[in-house]
Amino acid sequence: MKFKDLSQCYFKLEKTQKKLEMVDILADTIQGADSKEIGKIALLTLGKLYPDFIGIELMLAERMAIKSLAIATGKSDKSVQALLDESGDLGKTAHKLLENKPQSTLLAFTKQEEQQELSVLDIWEIFDSIAKMSGEGSSDRKIRTLSGLISKVSPLEARYIIRMVCGQLRLGVATQLLLEALSLAKTGTRENKGVLERAYNRTSDIEFVASTLFAEGLEKISKVEVKIFNPIRVMLAQRVSSSEELLERFGGKVALEYKYDGLRVQIHKKGTTVKLFSRKPEDITNQFPDVIEFINNAAKEDEFIIEGEIVAYDLQKDKILPFQQVSQRKRKHDIDKKISEVPVRVYLFDSLYAFGKSEIESDYFDRRQLLEKLVETNNNIQYSHQTVAENADDIENFFQQALENGCEGVMGKDISKGSSYQAGARGWNWVKYKADYVDKLSDSFDLVILGADYGKGKRAGLYGTFLMGSFDMIDAVYKTFTKVATGFSDKNLQYFYDVLKKLERAKPKEILSDTECQIWFEPSIVIEVTGAEITVSQIHTCARGLLGGKTDGLALRFPRFTGRIVEDKAPEDSTSNQEIHTIYLNQIR
Ligand code: AMP
Repeated sequence: MKFKDLSQCYFKLEKTQKKLEMVDILADTIQGADSKEIGKIALLTLGKLYPDFIGIELMLAERMAIKSLAIATGKSDKSVQALLDESGDLGKTAHKLLENKPQSTLLAFTKQEEQQELSVLDIWEIFDSIAKMSGEGSSDRKIRTLSGLISKVSPLEARYIIRMVCGQLRLGVATQLLLEALSLAKTGTRENKGVLERAYNRTSDIEFVASTLFAEGLEKISKVEVKIFNPIRVMLAQRVSSSEELLERFGGKVALEYKYDGLRVQIHKKGTTVKLFSRKPEDITNQFPDVIEFINNAAKEDEFIIEGEIVAYDLQKDKILPFQQVSQRKRKHDIDKKISEVPVRVYLFDSLYAFGKSEIESDYFDRRQLLEKLVETNNNIQYSHQTVAENADDIENFFQQALENGCEGVMGKDISKGSSYQAGARGWNWVKYKADYVDKLSDSFDLVILGADYGKGKRAGLYGTFLMGSFDMIDAVYKTFTKVATGFSDKNLQYFYDVLKKLERAKPKEILSDTECQIWFEPSIVIEVTGAEITVSQIHTCARGLLGGKTDGLALRFPRFTGRIVEDKAPEDSTSNQEIHTIYLNQIR
């Protein structure tokens, strides 16, 4: 497929917000793709080069894109910047610059024979080479390669190339929409999306799902199983706010485990190779050489996938330390120094693959027992503390015990037949019951920073107020929930300014907001916010569509930043609109 054709499809996608229409547009274009290119088309359409767990991404700084555009079009950096300031959009800037430029003034070294139509695979390969350039002079090489590419393509292609290299594609196409389009394109109906989703949840690899579907068909996809070193999309939990509710959910009998406040880890082992994946899922193997050693020492079998929580641990005092400690271990440098400063312990709670087969369809107790066959416990590796409760008093006692032992609450887990591991889903097989849900006034939410207003006085020059939102899984958009300005230290504000400055954008299409902001961001950063109460709002769009009135949304009153940056959650994993709606219903009940 020519990249030109994919660009035309992207242009049509940009013009509509309607999800069904977007699926039709995308399906119409990709049905013409062959099985060798569909995987790359799927990745590029999500703004990626590789699946997240591979860890290679294209994220050029905006200034490098500006430089490349300037070189390719013979303009000064300043005039490109001025155009960008006017439109607020790198893609539109590139499009306009190339449209207004006669071919002859494009890069002198672009010979006639080079001005061919590039295929999607050609573009992916050039992107890949840019992403892999490193070391001395790599910035210059990246700029040269990109400007060379821009000078060869049409204005419309340049519009998307420049957005892709800067991580700003913003078509409003999320994985779910893409899966639906793949289903429609290849099987003629959207109905098979579930089959594709099942394969995606087992492999976290959209390239593999798309190319297998196109090469070998739906039958093959429906048999895709868990594979070692492909992270399984993690199972998530619903929340309850009392022990009575917890018990009721599970028909009077439930397994309880401590809810450790750390970093979720999925551990894959085959022979001597061990890999660790975060919940996102990113490969975090290099950040935890100590955990790799613990696993190699504790493993009873050669091959498995298990899951647990990494917490900071004080070995002398035999005590779990708060999340803020373990979060310091999420780093790419000075790892050895941090290992001795912040020792960790792993609490294992699930087994997902062993003895050559997937266990995710197995029931809770079978998976839990299997864990004991795979790994033995020692000072560094433990199984999560567990009990089975049949009345609210037992739940309350276990809950208090969990808090006294430095945990945030308890997890309730279904023990009935069919209590499988629901990969990629926030189902009711697991629920979380946390200390902050007991006191309604301090319910906490993991929210995405969507926008900001500049501060005044001491905060002048920095962002002072942040527009916070949550991901709506059904509409695949971010909806706004509150504006927060309290709870930030001066250090926090400087940090957020430094990080978010690079994420400033024209208002992204995937944000549904009726409230204005001076600055909009690419939704990326998740922080924890507490509040006093959830109220119905005509200003905020959270849960719109789930409430009575057409314009009714939900808003959080008296919001406050808790100081916790939730680094291991992707923005789509923020507390969802649906969850917030449930909390609201509980609150009014
Ligand atoms: P939350 O991040 O609030 O949605 O809560 C779910 C998270 O709790 C999981 O992703 C795990 O990282 C963490 N967790 C801690 N202890 C457990 C446990 N015993 N079972 C399952 N998840 C746990």
